[in-house]
Amino acid sequence: MADDKGRITQGTDTAVVTSVEMATDMTADDAAHTTNAHTGAPIPVRADTKQRSPYEGAMREALRQAQSAAVAGDMPIGAVVLNADGAVIATGRNMREVHCDPLSHAEVEAMRAAARALGTWNLADCTLVVTLEPCPMCAGAAVSAHMGRIVFGAWDPKMGACGSVWDIPRDPHVGAMPQVYGGVLESDCSRQLTAYFHTLRTA
Ligand SMILES: [Zn+2]
Repeated sequence: MADDKGRITQGTDTAVVTSVEMATDMTADDAAHTTNAHTGAPIPVRADTKQRSPYEGAMREALRQAQSAAVAGDMPIGAVVLNADGAVIATGRNMREVHCDPLSHAEVEAMRAAARALGTWNLADCTLVVTLEPCPMCAGAAVSAHMGRIVFGAWDPKMGACGSVWDIPRDPHVGAMPQVYGGVLESDCSRQLTAYFHTLRTA
């Protein structure tokens, strides 16, 4: 395709420029997470620094929730849900031990609280922010809630279901496809979990 001055304006040119721009934003951590850890398949949407920064404040709140979980004796995983304006409307933390409930993951708690706050199960205008890559249950729950966006901190090479092991939000069989950004404050989120496990081993 050419414009009125005869310049080539093919979509492929635009795509090349975009990929170069994105590449300059990549960090070493990004480069390590561009493929599925088990299948080697490319992860279709990775986090770049421009997309990350708007969620760092929310991730810090999720980290505080995670710390509260650790104090209560649970693995430190915290989550918040943002509305369309980016305001925190709900928080949640891992409470499996406290509630003796295998389903009491931070994301489930936060999504339940968000649905109660909004008066609807449909969270299409919302963003789920969580310190660890969601597991299959939570990624499935987010899809079922029509969550608009999933943002997470640390990648989970064992149970991660947003690109690491499975990729439920972007499974072609899934109708609603949330945007997914990983690696927001990744080192803070990883450090918190590492410290928790270190404490368990030395207790
Ligand atoms: Zn989960």
